[in-house]
Amino acid sequence: MKTMQAVVWQGKEQLVLQEVPRPTLNSGEVLIKVHYAGICGSDLGIYLGKHPRAKAPLIMGHEFTGEVIETCLEFESTIQVGDRVTVNPLISCGHCQPCLTGNAHVCRSLGLVGIDIDGGFAEYVKVEATKVVKLPSNLPLDLACLVEPVAVTSHAIRKSALKAGDTVAVLGGGPIGLLTAITARYAGASEVIVCEISESRRELARSLGFKVLDSANNPEEEVFKLSGGNGVDIVYEAAGAPATALLATRIVKITGQIVVVGVFKEPSKIDLQAVNFRELSIIGVRVYEPRDYEVALHMLGQLKEIEHVISHQFPLERAQEGFDLMLSTANSMKILFAP
Ligand SMILES: [Zn+2]
Ligand SMILES: [Zn+2]
Repeated sequence: MKTMQAVVWQGKEQLVLQEVPRPTLNSGEVLIKVHYAGICGSDLGIYLGKHPRAKAPLIMGHEFTGEVIETCLEFESTIQVGDRVTVNPLISCGHCQPCLTGNAHVCRSLGLVGIDIDGGFAEYVKVEATKVVKLPSNLPLDLACLVEPVAVTSHAIRKSALKAGDTVAVLGGGPIGLLTAITARYAGASEVIVCEISESRRELARSLGFKVLDSANNPEEEVFKLSGGNGVDIVYEAAGAPATALLATRIVKITGQIVVVGVFKEPSKIDLQAVNFRELSIIGVRVYEPRDYEVALHMLGQLKEIEHVISHQFPLERAQEGFDLMLSTANSMKILFAP
C-alpha cells in the first residue's frame, strides 16, 4: 500500500504529522499532488474544536493547488494528468430547494473538501473531477492558493450594491478583509478604508494604498471625515466580531448597505434601531458561485499586489508553527503549507 505524509487533526488543538494511506480513486475522481495549501480562518475554528461539522480524524485544507497525477474517469473530461489545478471545494446535494434554484453554494447540507472530507494538508488529495479548476500556465501555484479566498471576496462584492465611485469601509484587515478591500477597489470603489486592530496588518493595508484606521481607537469620527461627513456607502464586515457588528451601523451612510462577510461563531448584537431609523440594508454572503472563480482567476492575473497577502510558507513538518502563528494574527496574513 502506498502511503503519504499528512497533517491530521486529531481533536481540539491536536495536529499530528502522520504517515497515512495514499487515497485510492473511485470513478469520477482525480489524484492531485499538492504543491501548496493555505490555512483558512475556518481551519482555525476546526483546530480549536469550534467547527459545527468537522469530525476528527480529519486532514484539513480547502485552499490548495497542485498537479493532477492520476485520473479515474469514465466520461469525457478536459482534466488530464499533468494539469496544474486548484479546486472549488464545495459539496452540494443537488436536490434541495437552494440547489434546484441555482443556489448550490448555499445548499441546505453544504459541505467542503477539507472540512467534511479529507483535504489538502497532505502530499496527495483526491477530489471529484468536477471540482477541479485548471490554472493559467503563468499563474504561480503558491499565488493560486488565493483563488478560493478571492472567490469569497468576489462574491461579497458582486452580491453587494457597490457602484463605481462608492466609498467603502472594510472592518477587519486579515486575509479576507484585505482581499475584500482589493476587490472593492478593482470593482470601482473610489475610497476604501480598512479598520483593523493589528498594527502590522494596518501597515500592510497602508502599503497597498488603502486608508487605514485602528478599529480599537474609535474610528467613527475619522470614517465620517473621510467620507464627506456622511458615512460610507457600503460597510463590509470581515472580522466576524461583535464590536465590528455594532460599529457597522454607525459608520454607514443613511440608506447605506452592510455586507456580512465575516463568519460569526455565535449570534451577535446589531443595532436594529439604527437599521430602522437610517433605512439601512444588511445582506449576508457565503462562499462563492462558479462565476466568482472566473473573476478570481482574472484578478490574480491582473493585480500584482495580491501576492502581498501571503505572509509565510512552511513545510508540513512545521504545521503546528503555522497554526500558532495564524492564531496570534498580529504578525501573519495568509500562511501556506508546501508539502
Ligand atoms: Zn477558505
Ligand atoms: Zn442542496
